[in-house]
Amino acid sequence: MKHKEPGKDERRLVPPETSLFVVSAPSGAGKRTILDTVFERDDGLAYAVSATTRPPRTGEVDGQNYFFLSEEAFRCRVKAGDFLEWAAVHGNLYGTLREELSKRLASGKDVVLELDVQGMRSVKAAWPDTVSVFVMAPSFEELERRLERRGANDPADTAVRLANARTEMDVRHEFDYIIVNDDLAEAVSDMEAIVRAARCRAAKQP
Ligand code: ADP
Ligand code: 5GP
Repeated sequence: MKHKEPGKDERRLVPPETSLFVVSAPSGAGKRTILDTVFERDDGLAYAVSATTRPPRTGEVDGQNYFFLSEEAFRCRVKAGDFLEWAAVHGNLYGTLREELSKRLASGKDVVLELDVQGMRSVKAAWPDTVSVFVMAPSFEELERRLERRGANDPADTAVRLANARTEMDVRHEFDYIIVNDDLAEAVSDMEAIVRAARCRAAKQP
């Protein structure tokens, strides 16, 4: 099995009044930067922390950016059925823990999941009113510059991420919204507008 999707029972997890957001982007496009600002300003949003087998970057905190697991521990939790969905991305494993999503939903806040395209498809299939957002850099050259500036990846890893960026860009029209992250303030404002519109949907009102 190369990935897993939420099952039928899991579909009852998300209350009808909660808005669920999936944000995806080619690595380095700036989704983390945009979300950091949006989270600072919006107390009604919760971030569901994923688990991963990739090593932490400088400054990343276990339990805050990711739950960093060894491959053995990750696979053990796959076997235990702890993941709602998981997938192999850029040569590492990433997944959404059922317990983590439940905890965030219990806070009564709207929830943001940062997932790759496979994860977005799985979540959309289970919860069709999920709002999906694709963040992209204004050009490949700029994406490359941002990946290099972030500087945490070795050149081989950067090459994998850039190659995968092209594949990810090809399916961007599967998403509900596309944000071009050129000017950061504008991109943040676009994300905030999407969140606001989602909350105004009639289906989310009493
Ligand atoms: P992602 O989460 O999509 O992998 P990050 O948020 O880590 O990307 O951003 C990658 C790099 O690009 C970081 O160094 C960040 O500071 C920079 N960055 C993000 N948005 C912009 C922007 N609008 N203009 C210039 N640099 C940006
Ligand atoms: P990074 O290593 O740059 O933090 O993330 C690499 C990719 O993994 C990104 O596209 C990110 O959205 C994706 N990702 C992070 N967490 C998850 C997850 O829980 N599930 C899936 N399917 N993808 C994830």
